[in-house]
Amino acid sequence: MKDEATLKKRYHAVQQRIAAAGVRSGRRRNDVLLTIVTKLASIDQIRQLLELGHMDFGENRVQALVQRAAQIDEFLQRHRQLSGSKVVNIPRKLRWHMVGHLQRNKVAKVLNLVRLIHSVDSLRLAEEIQTAAARYEDPVEVLIQVNTTGEKNQFGVAPAAAVHLIEQIDTMMNLRPRGLMSIARQVEDPEEARPDFERCVDLFEDIRRAGAGGEQFDILSMGMSNDFEVAIECGANIVRIGSAIFGPPAPDVAEEAD
Ligand SMILES: *Cc1c(COP(=O)(O)O)cnc(C)c1O
Repeated sequence: MKDEATLKKRYHAVQQRIAAAGVRSGRRRNDVLLTIVTKLASIDQIRQLLELGHMDFGENRVQALVQRAAQIDEFLQRHRQLSGSKVVNIPRKLRWHMVGHLQRNKVAKVLNLVRLIHSVDSLRLAEEIQTAAARYEDPVEVLIQVNTTGEKNQFGVAPAAAVHLIEQIDTMMNLRPRGLMSIARQVEDPEEARPDFERCVDLFEDIRRAGAGGEQFDILSMGMSNDFEVAIECGANIVRIGSAIFGPPAPDVAEEAD
């Protein structure tokens, strides 16, 4: 019970910080979508967040996403049977976000589960999605991950290559480019991440001005537990947050997640 109270408190605190950062940057409260990254969460914690009415969850690995989605689906079905006509807060359906690097041979496993893929970073991956998505009615919504730090161990296309990739994706029937995603450098003082976010925003605005991504190119996914307020001040409208809600990883959980 104590854990549950802590989780709830952290969740509301994060929501309040998101709203405050939005107000500081002159935006309306609902402009920023919180995607809760569950890689360090227990199933129980996800259930508690569902009971608070939260809908958007993300995973950075395909296997974890598939597993979680199945477990939660079962929970939702059972819950629906038990609760009958009682009014409850629990959303009918979750929206899963794939936020981590996606290997081409795993594309087929996630397409029917995810609402948004944040991490398209190559033409070959986009082509794989285009082929695999042919059997679904709706196009797959994707963000293009941009490497704004220039660090070699980071995923993402170089900023200079992003426009061309987006133009190519925009010609694919089964994909819909919706925006950009980036991960800032890991620094203690989040202010040091600001230039990374600004680089991404500049690129985003260039693409929008040029019309390269089509009409619905309007999502900017930036900001994690350590730097989300700076990201929102720069213009992020999706933040991806894990540890600020679940607490720092316990050693055993971190091992399990590997
Ligand atoms: C884990 C993860 C996050 C959340 O990180 P926290 O620092 O725990 O908030 C966000 N984005 C991606 C791609 C991740 O893998």
